[in-house]
Amino acid sequence: MEFIEFNFHPTVAAGVKAAGYETPTPIQHQAIPPVLKGSDVMGLAQTGTGKTAAFVLPILHRLMQGPRGRVRALIIAPTRELAEQIHEAIGILGRQTRLKSVTVYGGVGINPQIQKLRGGVEIVVACPGRLLDHINQRTINLSHLEVLVLDEADRMFDMGFLPDIRKIIKYIPERRQTLMFSATMPDDIRRLAHEVLHAPITVQVDHTAPANTVAHALYPVEQQLKTALLMELLRHTDTDSVLIFTRTKHRAKRVGQQLANAGYRAASLQGNLSQNKRQAALDGFRKGAYQILVATDIAARGIDVSSISHVINYDMPDTADAYTHRIGRTGRAAKTGDAFTFITGEDNDMVRAIERVLGEKIERRMLECFDYKKSLPARDTEFARPPREPQRRREHAAAAAHKQTGHNAGRTEKRKQGTYKSHRSTASRHFTWSKANNTSNSRTHNPVI
Ligand code: AMP
Repeated sequence: MEFIEFNFHPTVAAGVKAAGYETPTPIQHQAIPPVLKGSDVMGLAQTGTGKTAAFVLPILHRLMQGPRGRVRALIIAPTRELAEQIHEAIGILGRQTRLKSVTVYGGVGINPQIQKLRGGVEIVVACPGRLLDHINQRTINLSHLEVLVLDEADRMFDMGFLPDIRKIIKYIPERRQTLMFSATMPDDIRRLAHEVLHAPITVQVDHTAPANTVAHALYPVEQQLKTALLMELLRHTDTDSVLIFTRTKHRAKRVGQQLANAGYRAASLQGNLSQNKRQAALDGFRKGAYQILVATDIAARGIDVSSISHVINYDMPDTADAYTHRIGRTGRAAKTGDAFTFITGEDNDMVRAIERVLGEKIERRMLECFDYKKSLPARDTEFARPPREPQRRREHAAAAAHKQTGHNAGRTEKRKQGTYKSHRSTASRHFTWSKANNTSNSRTHNPVI
């Protein structure tokens, strides 16, 4: 199916072209026709499937007819970042439509939002708490609303927003079109869907996007050598944008700093940052000023950067679901991506859980050029442990994990001026990069910004 078959208004079709979309993604293919017809839709799809355009495009098309200057579409999202991304998508896809969209979320001044709302907008992209503030202060008028979208409904539930959503819905005309998107369908979301959707058409895209377009690899390593291995891995891998996950805020900050000190354009995103700094780091990453972003799971909520080529789990996530969510950030919309995970001997149970979810064994890799026995660099004292018996046991566990070789050998990692090779040794498979010519081992880094 082609976009042309949706018969979008010419200004909306121009937006599709401006965004560079050539063919609809599966969720767009399934959801756009019923949304265009005016049906309520329940979309089961996660971030990365193209779900935003699946609702934004038909909304823009619809709003091309009818009055301007009143709120006709409301999109509710769980996080500020997601709200901003949706608003941005509207900006790109709707550039020629002259329809106006505004974001409404907390943590920033309310007055500029009031002014924009007063100025007359057709689309509001909001987080529940601040939207309720506007409703209570009567600074938003939802009485002309035609379309309501609840995006990432399961996350809204996780974040405790369902009571707010129910309150908001009381202020919205009953005669409306409602679209709900969710990656999963727990009972509470099913109940909410039952309450807010009328005779919905359910569309679903499978959870397979990461498995199809993302190559997974595990790197067994001692905890205290992770930063050194990260540097080595980055030096030997061709990357676009890299998103690195750590378990703690402190570690995110520290690894971000170490990368910046090493000459990478790197920033870190932790819960402690002010909204302005957070937005600056995110914008910098999205626009390419920062090539690397280091974040915790919570701080990374809602990040959508389509060009993320590599997700690196500096620390293993706590659940298999969190793994799927992290790596869902790469391999977006027909692009390929890599998910590298550093594992210590203590992560074996989680590795097994993730392999069960993926339905396949993940390849173990070692960097041949990396000294896995090297002593701890002075500045890595956060992870320093005196060498003693348990450490040897951990090494043993890491080595044992490494012996279980994976299936995906020979894929993805490229080295500038190098070719990728694998060869089997007696005990395990080693992966090396052999240089095609005799160029220097060093890589030119961009200056820190
Ligand atoms: P989403 O799931 O809405 O977060 O979209 C994921 C990414 O896919 C975004 O960066 C979109 O710009 C991109 N995208 C959406 N639809 C298409 C399409 N039909 N072709 C190519 N990229 C797309």
